[in-house]
Amino acid sequence: MSKKKEKRILTGDRPTGKLHLGHYVGSLQNRVELQDEYDTFLIIADVQALTTNFDRPEKLSEDVRQVARDYLAAGIDPEKTTIFVQSLVPEIAELTIFYSMIVTVNQLRHNPTIKSEAEQYGYKEMSYGFLGYPVSQAADITFCRANLVPVGEDQIPHIEQTRKIVRKFNNMYGEVFPEPEALISDFPRLMGLDGKNKMSKSLNNAIYLSDSKEEVQQKIMQAKTDPARIHKDDPGHPEVCTVYHYHEAFNSEESDEIAEKCRAGTIGCVACKKRLAEKLNAFLDPMRERRKKYLENPELVDQILMDGTAKAREEAQKTMEKVREVMKIDYFSK
Ligand code: ATP
Ligand code: MG
Repeated sequence: MSKKKEKRILTGDRPTGKLHLGHYVGSLQNRVELQDEYDTFLIIADVQALTTNFDRPEKLSEDVRQVARDYLAAGIDPEKTTIFVQSLVPEIAELTIFYSMIVTVNQLRHNPTIKSEAEQYGYKEMSYGFLGYPVSQAADITFCRANLVPVGEDQIPHIEQTRKIVRKFNNMYGEVFPEPEALISDFPRLMGLDGKNKMSKSLNNAIYLSDSKEEVQQKIMQAKTDPARIHKDDPGHPEVCTVYHYHEAFNSEESDEIAEKCRAGTIGCVACKKRLAEKLNAFLDPMRERRKKYLENPELVDQILMDGTAKAREEAQKTMEKVREVMKIDYFSK
């Protein structure tokens, strides 16, 4: 028997498409590494996906499975980690409602991630659900009384909001929840292939964990590099080059040497890109191998999700019993 893991992790993703390299270095890598040490819960946040995709609910069914396959391919072990679907744990929705009483609309309005996402999606007016998704996220994190939340940089304001809610709840009703902490990776904001924005599912600038060898090669060959390098021997500036940033993230053994050669103009962009594409493909190959099994046996993925959801629900019920008790709304339980 493995020793009992005392601390918990909760984190996850919205099922809005395939996971990409930004997800991997921003959060997924930490989850894979920490699953031995922490009791890990991964939420596939389908209700949160609806905050922006409410007009396409029919996409969720495939996207939920896609995210699950990406987790399993990346090395999440379902024996160690609980993968579950948010909408199938209704206690999370219940907890969200209780939390919504102790959050002010102004706190949500001033959340910088909400502001920049509303701009990105072109919302002149925000739905109640979109403005409030950090409250629902606080319930996601706390229903299993998580201690640590491995996430990318854009999530910092949300974790801060969760901590505020937890402090207020605990002070007002009694200690139920630990105050969770964010775990920010070494690459909290991986740039996209456009070299302008963070790599994102919605911006068409991503290399996906499920891309084929050829797709990876093609995308890297088309990636933007330092505009100062027109000829092969022009001295370059690796710090402004997306390809170099990918070398740092996925080819750290060679990245110093590449930076030096780029500055000296002794490695051309084409050669530099070829080396990166090879490295990336070598990194993605074991994921491709693991993914095959789940693509060929989709019922395995469904079973993992059903088992994980049942386990998450048990935790949620335990927590909600405690919540109702401290809030004194357990009218008929004695
Ligand atoms: P969407 O465009 O649908 O919002 P997304 O690509 O921004 O998708 P999310 O599902 O919002 O991805 O993010 C899931 C997790 O991955 C979060 O913890 C987020 O911080 C992290 N993450 C997403 N993109 C990056 C990136 N480019 N670099 C580092 N971390 C990232
Ligand atoms: Mg996002």
